[in-house]
Amino acid sequence: MTDNKPFITIAIDGAAASGKSSTSRMIADKLNFMHVDTGAHYRAVTICLLQAGLQPDQTEAIKGFLDTVPLSTEVSGHRALIRINRYLPHETELRSVEVNETVSGFAQLPEVRAFLLDYQRNTIQEAKNYHFNGLIMEGRDIGSVVLPDADHRFFLFADPSTRSKRRQQEGQKDMIEKRDKIDSTRKHAPLKCPEGAIKIDTSERDLEAVVTFITETIGYA
Ligand code: C5P
Repeated sequence: MTDNKPFITIAIDGAAASGKSSTSRMIADKLNFMHVDTGAHYRAVTICLLQAGLQPDQTEAIKGFLDTVPLSTEVSGHRALIRINRYLPHETELRSVEVNETVSGFAQLPEVRAFLLDYQRNTIQEAKNYHFNGLIMEGRDIGSVVLPDADHRFFLFADPSTRSKRRQQEGQKDMIEKRDKIDSTRKHAPLKCPEGAIKIDTSERDLEAVVTFITETIGYA
């Protein structure tokens, strides 16, 4: 039931392995929404900065360098993929151990966050241009900073053992506790439940149940 509905935006925030990506992907496929994974944006920037030989403490050089870097979007199915400096990073590169280890260090810099903000907001227009029914954007600061006026805002969470089990099952070496600590204590746009967002505990609910809950809540069931 997606006919004659207005274009809507959904913000999904949560810590690493809280279930954001699987949930957002499934909703996008089901409702013909465009899925924007902002974690992939920070990962892509990290790859680009590491390739340029830059470290998080070189803020001036990072800003100067990013001023020269173009960003664009490639739409693949329901997914909006980021192209940085004309390069489309592969999924395996985005999820490498090196990127897992360094991404939060770069993501805490206001220079890096400011570099991505307009690009992220502009994906709404991109989704409309492609005639999607809506946009679902996931990350850490979507409901609080990127799209505070999103039509629906959700915050996913799960207990630590469930989250580390998920990463193990995916075969990923990911220091999620360390990333969560940096992400939630940083000064700029920290990970937190945005005021007024609907909280969903995904520890006990399976993916289908979370997707059903969200689609019902937004009036699409
Ligand atoms: O979502 P994912 O785990 O791939 O995100 C990777 C990292 O990107 C996070 O640990 C965080 O440091 C950063 N990030 C962010 N703000 C977002 C999305 C991701 O700071 N909106």
